[in-house]
Amino acid sequence: MSPAISWLQCIRCGARYDSHEVRYRCDCGDLLEVAHDLARLRELHPDLKRLFNDRVGTNELPYASGVWRYHEMILPELPAGEIVTKPEGNTNLYRSPKLSREFATARLILKHEGENPTLSFKDRGMTAGVSWAKHLGRKIVACASTGDTSAAMAAYAAQVEDMQGVVFLPRDKVSPEQLAQAITYGAKTLAIETDFDGCMKLVQQVCDQRPVYLLNSMNPFRIEGQKAIGLEAVQQLGWRAPDWFVIPVGNAGNISALGKGLWEARELGLIDRLPRIAGVQALAADPFYRSYQTGFREKITVTAQPTAASAIRIGAPVSHDKAAAVVQRFHGVVEAVSEEELMEAKALADRCGVAVCPNSGVALAGLRKLRARGVIADGESVVVILTAHGAKFSQVGVDYHTGRLPGLSPKQPNPPLVVSADLPAVLRALGL
Ligand SMILES: *Cc1c(COP(=O)(O)O)cnc(C)c1O
Ligand SMILES: [Zn+2]
Repeated sequence: MSPAISWLQCIRCGARYDSHEVRYRCDCGDLLEVAHDLARLRELHPDLKRLFNDRVGTNELPYASGVWRYHEMILPELPAGEIVTKPEGNTNLYRSPKLSREFATARLILKHEGENPTLSFKDRGMTAGVSWAKHLGRKIVACASTGDTSAAMAAYAAQVEDMQGVVFLPRDKVSPEQLAQAITYGAKTLAIETDFDGCMKLVQQVCDQRPVYLLNSMNPFRIEGQKAIGLEAVQQLGWRAPDWFVIPVGNAGNISALGKGLWEARELGLIDRLPRIAGVQALAADPFYRSYQTGFREKITVTAQPTAASAIRIGAPVSHDKAAAVVQRFHGVVEAVSEEELMEAKALADRCGVAVCPNSGVALAGLRKLRARGVIADGESVVVILTAHGAKFSQVGVDYHTGRLPGLSPKQPNPPLVVSADLPAVLRALGL
């Protein structure tokens, strides 16, 4: 038998495990990643760029997917016929003079991951995670979630015969749209009287003690799917990396995936230089920002406070160490923003015609601060990753515009006007 192209590898001690072994941590306790034999991949596929370019626009599954277009870099040993796809990805890039002006960034591009099937980037990780679960013959899959992971997992599990999704949600801390997705797709949904970090502990215990497969981003196969965000972005830019990626950080899986994908893209000759990466957190839940401020000498955890950016309300990011390595390798920075900053940035992008969620507002607010401080220079090209759709967090949007977000007076309110049903009143209300 020829040696494996992919295996599980500890990010600390380098120990290797077979990729078919069900394990989420190394014996030493640290995180695992899916490592690929890149030299072998180069040998097997001398012209990956052409292969990936030829698949753009195809209707053939799974290659029509914006994840599986990069099959050879995601899970090369997973047979194409076993893949569970919706298909996901193929999200748009947005740029306009108005966006550039409002965010004081001439070469600004927004990559809208809210255009995925369940309206967040989590679909990219889940197509990989659920496909691998199916490949391993696992029947029950579970995750803790701030709302988007569970929506995606429920949707993908529902596509597989005999697969049951189990979701651990912090009670009353996810949006109605997120909750609706988990229950309507048929996942067994637990609303638990705790926060995300409490749910995360419980789901890990359940997966350790019962035959239940863990699909949080601690599961390294999720990360492989999420790598495709960066790959797709640089392909859309003609295989050129921008000067910067800006991305919101919660559990820190996504920034880890972005870095891993771009690093491998450079190793495989798809891009010739690395971008810098800026991670941004809400001040209400800023452990990774605080660790960064210590030069990552300390790994800080906090009790996450309420924030409009509820999808990143996480006090102990599971992928902290992977993300820290990415920030260091990519000459990156970490920023943090207030509730007012993130909501005003969201409102501004919305008004430019791009519906963003509060978590994406965190990234946009981070961009504004980094531009104001000159960390991101005038003229540098920037890709901001928008992580979910605004329509998935509609209550926060309405509350902002009607002045009902606690402790915040909106600078760009646009509340509906209540008018009686007669023409003069309508004209008066319109000021016409
Ligand atoms: C999950 C999520 C994030 C954070 O991603 P991590 O991998 O947890 O850092 C950001 N925004 C949205 C909308 C999310 O669903
Ligand atoms: Zn180890």
